[in-house]
Amino acid sequence: MTTLKGKGVYGAIALGRITVFKRKEASVKRVRIDDINAEKARLEAAKEKAVSQLQKIYDKALREIGEANAQIFEIHMMMMEDEDYNDSISGIIETQSVNAEYAVAVTADNFAEMFASMDDAYMQARSADVRDISNRIISCLSEADGENEVSDEKVIICADDLAPSETVQLDKDRVLAFVTAFGSSNSHTAILARNMNIPAVIGVGEELLKTVKNGELAAVDGYTGEIFIDPDENTKTRLENKRTEDEDKKRLLQELKGKENVTLDGKKIDIFANIGSTDNIGAVLANDAGGIGLFRSEFLYLESSDYPTEEQQFAAYKKVLESMAGKKVIIRTLDIGADKQADYFDLPEEENPALGYRAIRICLTRPEIFKTQLRALYRASAYGDLGIMFPMITSVPELERIIELCREVREQLTAEGIEISDRVELGIMIETPAAAIISDKLAPMADFFSVGTNDLTQYTLACDRQNAAVEQFVDPHHEAILRLIEMSAKNAHEHGAWIGICGELAADTSLTETFLRMGIDELSVSPSFVLKVRDAVRQCDLSK
Ligand code: PEP
Ligand code: MG
Repeated sequence: MTTLKGKGVYGAIALGRITVFKRKEASVKRVRIDDINAEKARLEAAKEKAVSQLQKIYDKALREIGEANAQIFEIHMMMMEDEDYNDSISGIIETQSVNAEYAVAVTADNFAEMFASMDDAYMQARSADVRDISNRIISCLSEADGENEVSDEKVIICADDLAPSETVQLDKDRVLAFVTAFGSSNSHTAILARNMNIPAVIGVGEELLKTVKNGELAAVDGYTGEIFIDPDENTKTRLENKRTEDEDKKRLLQELKGKENVTLDGKKIDIFANIGSTDNIGAVLANDAGGIGLFRSEFLYLESSDYPTEEQQFAAYKKVLESMAGKKVIIRTLDIGADKQADYFDLPEEENPALGYRAIRICLTRPEIFKTQLRALYRASAYGDLGIMFPMITSVPELERIIELCREVREQLTAEGIEISDRVELGIMIETPAAAIISDKLAPMADFFSVGTNDLTQYTLACDRQNAAVEQFVDPHHEAILRLIEMSAKNAHEHGAWIGICGELAADTSLTETFLRMGIDELSVSPSFVLKVRDAVRQCDLSK
């Protein structure tokens, strides 16, 4: 047995086999081939595999998200059979004597461009689909060469690091645990693991990938950050017992469902949940959250191979609002940039991405993207109790411009005869020291604040949240951070706004009483932490 140690970022136990995560090559290489018939046969085999993958995804989507949403995968299967598309691929293989990957990639580029230049919005949207099916065939072509073995068994994913876009694309039903060599506890991958209730260990160091092999048995303890490779019988039994204890504790917390978030002396607060996708709504409801305090809408963009259309976004926001049946839903506008990258945004490489062109800065300089999202949000507002929240605010003029754009979008929609709610709250994230310090100026312009402690910590303590090397210098309870939160709470209340916390610190129950004493009105946490925080609130006595 070999033992490795990193930092546990979601406490749970997993036992299973390891799969070493292979990053797909970003670019397809052009390779000359001699045997054209063999290459075509390889292409046919990959296409068959791709169709069978799509059939499985379609069946799963049909069960879980309904026929209308599943239809897209049926369309993808049909597109794979399209004669023009297939003729183009074979033509390139034959005339240029090149590999199938290259022929598919060139065909994808040509067809995507052709669709994008059409007038009809429906046909334009097919541009992303043709890229999607082509990427699937290309990835099946490389798997056919024996690279990433696909099995139906649930596995422990070991990787150097995982970008948020890579994490969201993994099939969650097949992941037992995440273990990474690098990364830090406030990285989005760690946050996603918590959202998905998956045990996760990060920052194991370079020896991780030197030690682990595909298919090896391992045990992961997400509490202590230990990974046991080829565990002995004693370790297996010890961890299985720990898992049972863990499940017992979680069962006890279930008794708090339906109970109020009220302190012993009678103060009530809201406990909401953070989500990154409509897939998480089930967990929000199962854990009895009072609402959604943060929907990280950028994951809609990260899961997509092109800008999600107004219709696609509207459908997702409407679904969340309808599923929450009148409970508050706070959707944060696009927070892309820094570690959250989508190729089609074509964002520049930056020396200091965390201090760079991200979030509201992109939205305000590329208003066409922002307005599409605002239109979808306001259209969805008719289906529930929506709050819209803006990330990375640092100044009053930014917020003035945002409010102006929201007004324009509302007026446009009303002029088009589209129904929108007149109760949509507008709020901002307090996640830069600047926003906290001028919170007295921002509060009169906002309905609510939500403190993003993940970024507030990195910017206040000057410690990059992606950099494992500086993690030892991060004290999440640092007085400077707590003072900024307290100052923001005081300023919010003085100007009639409410204030919540949606960063990971909201789930730190050693601070629950401190937050309540500051007057925090809402804590928004990963769905699996809702009952744990409710338990902590119910044990506080603020009268003492
Ligand atoms: C935060 O910064 O605390 C936050 C909630 O936003 P994100 O983690 O998505 O940056
Ligand atoms: Mg943030």
